[in-house]
Amino acid sequence: MSSHKIIIAIDGYSSCGKSTLAKELGKKLGYNYIDSGAMYRAITLYFLRNHIDYTNPVAVLDAIANINLGFVFNEQLERSDIELNGEDVEPYIRDMIVSEKVSEVAAIREVRAFAVAQQKRMGRKKGIVMDGRDIGTTVFPDAELKIFMTADPDVRVMRRFQEMYATNPQITIDEVRHNLELRDYIDSTREESPLHRADDAILLDNSNLTKEEQLEIVLEWVKDRATNPRVTQ
Ligand code: C5P
Repeated sequence: MSSHKIIIAIDGYSSCGKSTLAKELGKKLGYNYIDSGAMYRAITLYFLRNHIDYTNPVAVLDAIANINLGFVFNEQLERSDIELNGEDVEPYIRDMIVSEKVSEVAAIREVRAFAVAQQKRMGRKKGIVMDGRDIGTTVFPDAELKIFMTADPDVRVMRRFQEMYATNPQITIDEVRHNLELRDYIDSTREESPLHRADDAILLDNSNLTKEEQLEIVLEWVKDRATNPRVTQ
């Protein structure tokens, strides 16, 4: 049976390990990995740096016209850094100041239209794994493999806390918990492409899985979808 390149769409709540899984899959399969959240974060960074009044749709459209987003992959496909107008902004986009505003910015229709159009273009040649909140529902509704990730909220808070503490020892667990809850709430209740599980997405709860176990499970799903393209759940 021949195997062909597919699109893998990974959605889910904040800090479920979507990007970790997506990155590992990309590396293992030789696919490009796109962290769509990084795009919304880079747009938010631009708005904050340039004091854009994002409650004003005209100001938003003007600002977007000046934004160029790109991804730079290293050869081993171990990293894909986002560039905002040619600048590597990876070091800044996960700061709390961006995390506090990103869900408000990502709820803006014009912002989503801009990001989604670019994401769709990236999938034209398939062989891509993208993670986010609306990838299986809006960006790639025909993706061969859709995964909806979830994990126990306490596990998610601790994972994100440990990640943020490494660069910001001032951060508290309560701050991280509050930010995750707020983002999940805004992301699931917004009008434009709210976060929800696509009917044909496979649920993956990784609260009690190691990264290795999780990758093994998902690679089996990929094998199945890449050899039996028409099989649906
Ligand atoms: O994935 P990450 O947590 O970095 O995403 C940051 C924010 O970007 C999310 O909380 C959400 O508001 C927004 N986002 C989105 N749609 C996506 C990816 C991210 O609205 N596809």
